[in-house]
Order: sequence, then structure tokens, then C-alpha cells
Amino acid sequence: MVAAVGEHGRLPQSDAVTWESFPWEVVDGALVPKVLRPPLHAEPPRKGDPGGDPCPTCAGAGGETRIWENDRWSVRPFHRSGMPLVLFLEPREHLDFTDLDDDLAAEYGRLTVWLTRIMSNLPYVGRVHVFRVGDGVSHLHVWFVARPERLPGIVGSMAMEWDDLLPPPPEEVWRADLGTVARHLATHDGRALV
Ligand SMILES: [Zn+2]
Repeated sequence: MVAAVGEHGRLPQSDAVTWESFPWEVVDGALVPKVLRPPLHAEPPRKGDPGGDPCPTCAGAGGETRIWENDRWSVRPFHRSGMPLVLFLEPREHLDFTDLDDDLAAEYGRLTVWLTRIMSNLPYVGRVHVFRVGDGVSHLHVWFVARPERLPGIVGSMAMEWDDLLPPPPEEVWRADLGTVARHLATHDGRALV
């Protein structure tokens, strides 16, 4: 990690500062909140919504990288990035969070606890953050973000911003962690695919 730190101890800038949804901008040398734009007439369709672009998950995006599955759910990694490990839990069927029936909701709860506990026991992981956003793609994809331990600036709701900034873990470590998670989850249910 030290090798990637540049002058003044700063890591390279993230692309997120150019995003329309980035809430701050520099005005007269001071970082200030952007001026809110007026409301739209309606929420824009997401990928996978009627009237939106096709669902990338149902089209197979990321399917080849799955590390675990059962007949209703699968787990795949986000690309190798700054956090030690970032995984998605997704239903095999095209369903949003609010579409889950009680049986799927109960299974979602069990899988979420198992996955969080397994990832929390990986070396160098301080805590696993779990969240669902769903503003870009309608096919449910729950984020499981393992943040590094003992780095006091990388905590709370802003921790994920460091995913673009920190150097990624070595590929062999990342792949070994994927295998560990898949094998442990398969002791509860489903099949490990790596
Ligand atoms: Zn879908």
C-alpha cells in the first residue's frame, strides 16, 4: 500500500469526483455542496425496468464470475478493487428487493448473515458493510463490502469511497479469498463454483 502513496501521502484521485451524483464542488477554493437541481417529472427507468435498457444481469453479465450458487441465488465478485473483497448476492430470477416473497426474503436473510460472517472472518477484514442501492439496475444486487481493519479513516458510510482509491489486493490473495468464501458458504447451502 505504501508504494502506491504519492507526494504528501495522498492516493490518486477517484473518478467519482466527476460523477453527476458527487454532491460537492470547489467554489472559490472552498469545498461546498452543489446546488440541487429541480425535481424530474418521474424517476428515470433503470436498466431492467420497462422502458429502460435491458437487464445486464439477465443478459449474463458477470455470470461467468459466479463463485457460488443454489437454485435461487448466486454470489459473484465486484471487480478486484481497493477493498479486500466486494461481493454481490443476487436472485437468479429477475426480481427487485421489493419483489421477494416471504420464502425468498427468509432465504435472503440467512444467506446475508452467513456471507457476512464468513467474510468477516477473512484476514485483514475489519467489518463487512451490507447495502442495497438499486438506482442503476433493477435486478436485485446486494453489496457485501469487506473493509480493511485498523485504518481509522476508512469507516462508516464513506468507507466505500476508498474502494476506488486504495490499491487492490494481490490477485492470488483475492482469488484465494473468493475460494474460501465459496467453500464456507457451500457448507450451509448450495454449490461452490471456484
Ligand atoms: Zn434481470
